[in-house]
Amino acid sequence: MSQNDPKRWRRDFPLLSMHVHGQPLVYLDNAATTQKPRPVIDAVNRFYKTANANVHRGSHALSMQATAAFELAREKVARWLGIDDSATLIWTRGTTEAINLVAQSWGRQHLQRGDLILLMQSAHHANIVPWQMLAAATGAHIEIIPLQADGDIDLNAYHRLLEQRPVLVALAHVSNALGTIYPVETLCREAKSAGATVLVDGAQALPHFDVSLEAMGCDFYAFSGHKVFGPTGIGALWGRRELLEAMPPWQGGGEMIEHVSFDSTRYAGLPFKFEAGTPDISGAIGLAAAIDYLGSQDRQAMEAYEQSLLKHALEGCRQIAGFRPVASGSQRVSLLSFELDGFHQQDVAHWLDRQGIAVRAGHHCAMPLMQSLGLPGTLRASFAFYNTFQEAEQLAQALEQLVQSQK
Ligand code: PLP
Repeated sequence: MSQNDPKRWRRDFPLLSMHVHGQPLVYLDNAATTQKPRPVIDAVNRFYKTANANVHRGSHALSMQATAAFELAREKVARWLGIDDSATLIWTRGTTEAINLVAQSWGRQHLQRGDLILLMQSAHHANIVPWQMLAAATGAHIEIIPLQADGDIDLNAYHRLLEQRPVLVALAHVSNALGTIYPVETLCREAKSAGATVLVDGAQALPHFDVSLEAMGCDFYAFSGHKVFGPTGIGALWGRRELLEAMPPWQGGGEMIEHVSFDSTRYAGLPFKFEAGTPDISGAIGLAAAIDYLGSQDRQAMEAYEQSLLKHALEGCRQIAGFRPVASGSQRVSLLSFELDGFHQQDVAHWLDRQGIAVRAGHHCAMPLMQSLGLPGTLRASFAFYNTFQEAEQLAQALEQLVQSQK
């Protein structure tokens, strides 16, 4: 067995040996959430067994131990993202909360009536609705960056929209519904030269490859821990220090203050100003364990393996009458969004589920994208490094059986 054999990786993920409907589980819903390796489960367990206390406020040993572990987790995640200044990494519940933080804090401060916000046609609802709420509150308006037929961004249209000098450009790094990887470095550079502030939704990128935020050139980057093999309920927002420092807090309470009186309150500095209330301590520690786990693997080999897995799945599925992939751009993560002619996606997903194969069916929280494609939804098989060629073949075989059963 080689260093990068998925069978070796699979052994680290206890849930993958489960059975569903009497069949071995084939988990192909990784874009919704990923499974957790043993070190993550152990780290969360260990915290509650040996180190549980509240952070930043105790003067006893256990609280200091919890605080040290919590802040070490922040440093590890920051380092993983190529950030030197870990105070610019704000814990949130996930991508959704991170984007809402920017919309409510930075957005209300910077947007005015008539200002332009650019969103992507393929955006997840989490990168649409907070901006719609902001537009409604400020009088700003929204324009959409269209896609080409293959799912890639329409660069000509993007350049034309940038000529209108948007105040904010909200991008996706990777589309959760298509799997397309967008050229964020170029898109950020162009948006910045047009004078915009840029937020990148990284929820679907980090599960597949490492990024360096300083090099990317964005102003804000948001992601969710549960999509990178960490726990649910934890994620982060990274922002440029000068922007974060000038932003007001968006939630008030304990943790985010330096001094409170009924006359006036002084807020804490970064990152605590944006972290009101008791944070998800075990979540942060579990996320750091996930990052340690990824760091102990050859991520480039994982990425190359995932690409070969996608190719193999596509080759198998292409043989099936009526199989139609929805995106065909060249830069894609290991995610297959497709239709099966003559079948409703929910019926196909149900059929696959009976064979133990977990996929997602529907609009994938990207309703405007589905509307532009003229589809009610798609089927989505999303792979991680722990999926096998055999599982990709099982998917194709189960689809073929369904098609044959209807003849
Ligand atoms: N953005 C993208 C691209 C996503 O895929 C998701 C989740 O599916 C989100 C945002 C929202 O993430 P969360 O629900 O973890 O906040």
